[in-house]
Amino acid sequence: MTGRVFDVRSPADGSVLATLPVMGVEAVREAVARGRTAQEGWAERGAPSRAGVMRELARVMARRGDEIADTIRAETGKPRVEALAEVVVSADLVRYYARVAPRHLRTRRVGGGWLLSKAGWVDRDPLGVVGGITPWNYPFVLVMDCVTPALFAGNAVVLKPSELSPLSALLVPDLVDEAGVPRELVQVVTGDGSTGEALVESGVDRVVFTGSTATGRRVMSAAARTLTPVTLELGGKDPAIVLEDADLERAARGVVFGGFFNSGQTCISVERVYVVREVYEPFVARVAELARALRPGSGAGADVGPMISPAQMEVVEGQVADALARGARVLSGGTRSGADPGIFLPTVLVDVQDAMVVMSEESFGPLLPILAVADEAEAVARANASPYGLFASVWTGDRRRGLRVARQLRAGGVSVNDVLSHYSVPGLPMGGVGASGFGRRRGLEALDEMTRSRTLLADRGGVRREPYWFPYSPSSERLMKGALEWRGLGGVAGTAALLRRVLGGGN
Ligand code: NAD
Repeated sequence: MTGRVFDVRSPADGSVLATLPVMGVEAVREAVARGRTAQEGWAERGAPSRAGVMRELARVMARRGDEIADTIRAETGKPRVEALAEVVVSADLVRYYARVAPRHLRTRRVGGGWLLSKAGWVDRDPLGVVGGITPWNYPFVLVMDCVTPALFAGNAVVLKPSELSPLSALLVPDLVDEAGVPRELVQVVTGDGSTGEALVESGVDRVVFTGSTATGRRVMSAAARTLTPVTLELGGKDPAIVLEDADLERAARGVVFGGFFNSGQTCISVERVYVVREVYEPFVARVAELARALRPGSGAGADVGPMISPAQMEVVEGQVADALARGARVLSGGTRSGADPGIFLPTVLVDVQDAMVVMSEESFGPLLPILAVADEAEAVARANASPYGLFASVWTGDRRRGLRVARQLRAGGVSVNDVLSHYSVPGLPMGGVGASGFGRRRGLEALDEMTRSRTLLADRGGVRREPYWFPYSPSSERLMKGALEWRGLGGVAGTAALLRRVLGGGN
C-alpha cells in the first residue's frame, strides 16, 4: 500500500460513498502473482469446462442485477434504465461466449502448402494474467468486456478501475466467485493513475486499456519498455451523417439518443452531425425540439443525469464558450441546469465550423453540433477529416446506400439507421482506428486478443533425410526450382514442371 487513500463521491450530491486505498507497486505485483497461480489450474480445465462454469455468471448477474445497477447508479448518477442496460449487455456477452468460445478456441488443423509430409496445428493458449484499466463512464460493462473474454480464454485478470467509479468493479470478484469461478482469477486494485502505471509495469501478459487518447499514449510508451502487448480503446469524435432520403423522425430521435445517452459521456456517442442541406432545416428543428423535451435530473424518471465530475463539466462549458465566441448558436440547453448545477442541459449547436473545438476535440458531454453539407460526398469527407475513428452512423432511406457510405468511413464500426446498439450485439467487435486506438474487444476478435497462438508441426514422412537438408547438391537446387514452378504456376502446368525437374534432371 502507498498509505494514500481516495474518496469515491456521488456525482448526484457529492456525498462520499467509500474511501479506498491507492494501491502501490508492491500490492499490484502481489495481485498479479496471486492471479498467475490461480490461472494455471483454470487454463488446464480447457475451454468447454470453463464455458460451463462461466455460463453461471450470467445467471448470477440476473439474480443480482438490481444490486449491480444500484452500485453503477450511485457512483455515476446515470438513469436506472442505463445502469440496468450495462448489466444486460454484460450478461448477454457471457451467453455469447458460452456458445462460441469452446469452438473458436479449439485447436485448428492446418494443411496444404508445398511440404506435403508435414502435419500442422494451431493451438490458442491463454496469455496468463491480463491487466484491465478502465474509465469511469461505464463502470460495469467496460470491466466485464475485459473480464469475460479473458476468463473464457483461460486467463486471470487484475483490474484497475477508474478512481471516480471503482465500486462496480469491486463487485466482480464476488460475482465470479458466486458463479463458481475461482475468486483469485479476478482481482481489483484500487487507486489513481499511479496504480494504473504500476499495473502496466507489473509483468502482466497484456494490458487492455480503455480511456482517453492522452493516457493511452502514456500506457503504450510504458508498455514498450517490457514489450507488453496492449489493446487501446480510446476516445472518439463520432460523426452522424444524415442523408436527404433519411426518415427524418427516426434520424432525429436516433441522433438525440446517441448524443445524450449517459449525458453524452459515451465513447461512441454522436459528437458531430452532418446533414445534407435539403433536409437541414426540418431535421435541426426536430432535434432541438426533442432535446428540449428531455428531462434532466438524478431521480426516477430523469432522462439525462449529471456530469461525472467538475473537471468534465469544465471541458463541456469550455467547448460551448469557444463555439459561441466563434459564432455558433445554441438551439437548446447551452448551460447548466438551474435546479441541479451538476447537470449540463442537452445542447444543440448550429452555425458551427470545423475550427471550433466542439467539432474537433472529444466533448464527452451532452453537446450536439450540427453542420449542413452539400451532399453525401462532402459529408463523408468531413466525417473522415478527424484523427479519431471510433464509430459513426449513417441515416438514409436506402439501406444499401447506407452500407456503401459506411464502408467509406474511417472508423472501427458504422451503424446504418441506428446508433449505440452496435455495442450491444456481442458478436460485433468493438474498437477504433487512428487516435481512437487499436485492438478489439467483444466478438471472436477479443478471444484472439486474449490468447496467443502456438503452432505445432509434426513430420509424417519418416524419411531419414529431407531432400533440402545438408549437404546441398545440384538435385537440391533442381528440387527448389521445381517447387517454385509447382507453387508459382499452379495447376497442371505447375505439377508438370515439378515432375520435369525432379525426374528429368538438368537445371
Ligand atoms: P482516463 O484516460 O483519464 O483514465 C482511464 C483509466 O486510466 C483510469 O482508470 C485511470 O486511473 C487510468 N490511468 C490514468 N493515468 C494512467 C497511467 N499513466 N497509466 C495507466 N493508467 C492510467 O480516461 P477517463 O476520463 O476515465 O475516461 C474517459 C475517456 O475514455 C474518454 O476519452 C472516452 O472516449 C474513453 N473511452 C473509450 C472507450 C472505448 O471503447 N474506446 C470506452 C469508454 C471510454
